[in-house]
Amino acid sequence: MQRFIRFIKDFSFLDLLTGLGLTGRYLFKRKVTVQYPEEKTPQSPRFRGIHALRRYSNGEERCIACKLCEAVCPALAITIEAEPREDGSRRTTLYDIDLFKCVYCGMCEEACPVDAIVLTRNHDYHFENRGENILTKEKLLAIGDKYEGQIAADRAEDEKYR
Ligand code: SF4
Ligand code: SF4
Repeated sequence: MQRFIRFIKDFSFLDLLTGLGLTGRYLFKRKVTVQYPEEKTPQSPRFRGIHALRRYSNGEERCIACKLCEAVCPALAITIEAEPREDGSRRTTLYDIDLFKCVYCGMCEEACPVDAIVLTRNHDYHFENRGENILTKEKLLAIGDKYEGQIAADRAEDEKYR
């Protein structure tokens, strides 16, 4: 009996027609493929992309060189050196993040008491030369300056759910 059913199925191309029916159904459904980079998929305000160091609105850098982010980083990706300024405030003289080591866990962001180090939503970046994987303080501050509007908006949105 089983062989007979198999024979009928093979003879009537039932499997083929079932497959074509499935293909046909998806032919007219809404397309889920996006034409990146012109089109982008929605992102969470908590998305963890490239890092940034933020400034206060008066231009002063937020980071107070407490090194909590360096201590908490599970990948040992952050290197900080610091010394006091003439006015007695503590600021970093070196702040490097090695993106080859970073696992984008966001723990540096969570640990920071002044909201200085953050992970932005930007994920489409690349390196072309040796050493570009090291994000220096200057680069981090420049990224912060560029994305401050979005960072501030995302954090305000995030606060609503805390
Ligand atoms: S995101 Fe995680 S792994 Fe990357 S620098 Fe921050 S703490 Fe380290
Ligand atoms: S980024 Fe934040 S946690 Fe890291 S040293 Fe600066 S103030 Fe401290």
